[in-house]
Amino acid sequence: MKIRHIEAKPGERAFGYLEASRTKSEVPIHIPVNILNGAKEGPTLLVSGAVHGAEIIGSIGLHQVMKDLDLAELRGTLIAVPIINTSAFEAGTRITGFDGENMDRTMETADPEGSPSAQLAYLYLTELLPKADALINMHAGGTDSFVWYTIYPGEYGDPDVIQKSRDMAIAFGLPQVFRSTPASWAGFHTVAKDQGKPAIMPEIGGGTDFKQNGMYQIERAAQGIKNVMILMDMIDGEIETESDKVEICDGKHEIFAGTDAGIMLWECTHGDYLEKDQPFASVYHPYTGELKSQILAPDAGTVLNTGKLWPTVDQGMWLALLGDIAEVVDVDFS
Ligand SMILES: [Zn+2]
Repeated sequence: MKIRHIEAKPGERAFGYLEASRTKSEVPIHIPVNILNGAKEGPTLLVSGAVHGAEIIGSIGLHQVMKDLDLAELRGTLIAVPIINTSAFEAGTRITGFDGENMDRTMETADPEGSPSAQLAYLYLTELLPKADALINMHAGGTDSFVWYTIYPGEYGDPDVIQKSRDMAIAFGLPQVFRSTPASWAGFHTVAKDQGKPAIMPEIGGGTDFKQNGMYQIERAAQGIKNVMILMDMIDGEIETESDKVEICDGKHEIFAGTDAGIMLWECTHGDYLEKDQPFASVYHPYTGELKSQILAPDAGTVLNTGKLWPTVDQGMWLALLGDIAEVVDVDFS
């Protein structure tokens, strides 16, 4: 497997940088890439993480997978990019440090002559994705939020690719799987799906849960990647999921804060069903502790496994996702 100058022969591992260009201070705009080429024939899986720079739980899980893989036994190739957006990682932000853009929304503006994000997206779409048979586009919560589900592009497209993406999402092993979200047009996994490659976007872990469950989050991310590799027959082993049942969800309504900012405490928890206008959270004055207002559910729905958990809120901030649990399926890959 060769990606530009980065080459790993069967049974070998290689690391290098795919460089687009440089910033005005000569900082490279590049993607650091690992190729782990198995000694045996098989498919190619691309796993990339931290397109949003603070979302690194899956990236650390990917490190573990890279360490655990036995290249003599691996069937096929793992292209592993733990940190795809280096300037966002540097800044610890969701957006690219160089230009303030959301790189996972630049698929349609990808351009070798464009902004740094557009150049990176162009590299991704021309050098990495064409080499892959399937994609895992890893996301996570930021430092103040928590997420625990896997998205697959399930709304439109080739039914066979959608079915394979759904199998990948269930195999990844988190107990909630979204077949649609309010932003389901976005992300490199949708581009992959449109090109006929099964693809998923795990949203795994996040800061507020890290103190208690950080190592578990990382292990779960690593096991998820291994599960997909078992499903693709790249490695031997048993698919180990967190639960033997998976909820297939449609993410429908986003909850945003109103004009009152301050201290915010949730009035519900993940999994609760809210009626329209039922309180989602209360906002309190930071200096007096008095109740300022309540944030209400914009429509009826179940509070899905995502959202901002840190108890402060700014005006208009994205807070949570309400949806429908469309079906509950038994996990069975025997
Ligand atoms: Zn993200």
